[in-house]
Amino acid sequence: MNESGRATLTGLGLGTVAVLLYRRWMRELPCPNAPTSSNPTKQGFSIKVASSHWDVIVIGSGVGGLTAAALLAKEGKKVLVLEQHDIAGGNLHTFTEKGYEFDTGLHYVGGKIGNKKSPLRRQLDYVTDGQVEWERMDDVYDVAIVDDERFNFHSDWTVLKSELKQKFPQECTAIDAFFGLVSKTTQLFPVFIVLKRLPGPIFRLCLRFFSSSLGIFAKTTKEVLESITSNPKLTGVLSYAYGDYGETPSRGAFAMHSLIYTHYEGGAYYPVGGPLKVATSIIEVIEKWNGKVFVRAPVSSILIDDRNRAIGVEVKGKQIFANTIISSVGAPSTFGKLLPAKHQGLVSPIIEAMKNDKIASNMTLMSMFVGINDPDGSLDLPKQNLWIYSSWELDANMDKFKEDFKKPASFFISFSSAKDPTYKTRNPGKQVALVIGPGFFDHVENFQNKRVKHRGDEYEAIKKEWENMFMDVLLKEFPFLRDRIDFVEFGTALSNDFYLGTHRGAVYGLAHTPERFLQQWLRPKTPISNLYLTGQDVCSCGIGGALIGGYLCAYDVSPKCFLRTASLLG
Ligand SMILES: Cc1cc2nc3c(=O)[nH]c(=O)nc-3n(C[C@H](O)[C@H](O)[C@H](O)COP(=O)(O)OP(=O)(O)OC[C@H]3O[C@@H](n4cnc5c(N)ncnc54)[C@H](O)[C@@H]3O)c2cc1C
Repeated sequence: MNESGRATLTGLGLGTVAVLLYRRWMRELPCPNAPTSSNPTKQGFSIKVASSHWDVIVIGSGVGGLTAAALLAKEGKKVLVLEQHDIAGGNLHTFTEKGYEFDTGLHYVGGKIGNKKSPLRRQLDYVTDGQVEWERMDDVYDVAIVDDERFNFHSDWTVLKSELKQKFPQECTAIDAFFGLVSKTTQLFPVFIVLKRLPGPIFRLCLRFFSSSLGIFAKTTKEVLESITSNPKLTGVLSYAYGDYGETPSRGAFAMHSLIYTHYEGGAYYPVGGPLKVATSIIEVIEKWNGKVFVRAPVSSILIDDRNRAIGVEVKGKQIFANTIISSVGAPSTFGKLLPAKHQGLVSPIIEAMKNDKIASNMTLMSMFVGINDPDGSLDLPKQNLWIYSSWELDANMDKFKEDFKKPASFFISFSSAKDPTYKTRNPGKQVALVIGPGFFDHVENFQNKRVKHRGDEYEAIKKEWENMFMDVLLKEFPFLRDRIDFVEFGTALSNDFYLGTHRGAVYGLAHTPERFLQQWLRPKTPISNLYLTGQDVCSCGIGGALIGGYLCAYDVSPKCFLRTASLLG
């Protein structure tokens, strides 16, 4: 055999060995166990876990934390999830009062999740082992209302656009332009996320070089809408869904607004069995892969060694060690609260950036939970959400509310008992309504240091005023509920801090403004070795956004996980 023949043979041999080694490295690990606990979302923290060394500790058990945990557990890593509340799931958690089961932070999910082949569904199925089914809501999934004028948001954009054009016959071009920009911006979003991972100067150069397309990421919803229409009512109507990410049109990023529109194109869905079913299913996967999820485990600090590496966490005075620490509790709490003061200098540019009012969230949500008596199960409630505003001037509504807590800016009404086909069998004779509205931490700040449920008469009186206003709105839309209301509970920004461990009630994390999206440090890898972020601050809020945050985080921790699951990204 001549020289070149030998070289070809050697090349082939090496190539074959490389392929075999790669396939061995990437082989599916056999799933070691059946789930270990009978009530996965309620496993109380045991001090015994402190004696083990873990590969990964995840702080917080929202969808972002659980997703990262499940992905890494499936890679064979020994994973521990620590949750401060007495139930796991974060915004996926539900609670039961007087026999009524209430959801908290999931009222609809889009992303064509009803279709088993859609990327979002495949991503979720991977971390739940396909245990969650999704019920489609009405074709008109959202209705936006001012006074008695209603705008239906139909999952079929042809119908949606045609109905909008009937209501605004002079604005057909603007409506087409809006939906065109929404689609284009959503398509660019993954490109933008990838570019953000490049070194800072290259990222900025890309922004400048491709400014004609990427420039949209620096724009607010209001700026974009004002460039295509001068009709303030149309601007208000097209901005109606800002409540899904918490920033009014003058602050909110058009990129985020676009994501919300396209997310629900094709339909909105609700998990069969309720949102807790999602959390339970992911935890079962974590347990199958030898991981643990403990509640009543408030992490008080992240341990940093003398080489500035994250090496563990402290819970109830006990230190627990791990090679990798993942925080799902948001950047402000991670860097400003859990990182010991003496190490905060390591992230001082981030702490400084978060002081910017355009990056810190200044809005929270308040929720009224209503139990409805329905002894014979005959009440027919809609499988859609209502968004009710005092006027189409959405920014002005919010400004007025900020000044005067008695003038709420908007209301969102939803009936989870109507959306979940198993609700009535699981909770016979009961239905529930949830009314949500924006809130400001400033309105309740004075009461933050008082004990939960004992915050005093003044706080109770303010809450009662809000409750009455929320109830009036619910009964105006659904007067037949008046004699059926059996239970009411009202939660403010302080409830969010207590039950969800939020920072100043900011349930959506950092503000979804253009300034936020341009922050390069908002990604899983932090400046501190072995410390990563997951959840809604990584990419965006929303169940889908936090789930993607979990995937991106797991990819940074384990490149193998990326190779194994990249096809799920769609
Ligand atoms: C009222 C409301 C309605 C919503 N409706 C929808 C909707 O219909 N559709 C949708 O897609 N999205 C919705 N969202 C948004 C969505 O729920 C969130 O964006 C998403 O769940 C965030 O997930 P996460 O994992 O980032 O954080 P979270 O779910 O907030 O989880 C963080 C967890 O960390 C825990 N924690 C905090 N501090 C500590 C600590 N020190 N130690 C241990 N644990 C800690 C918290 O208790 C919490 O469980 C809604 C949100 C709210 C508040």
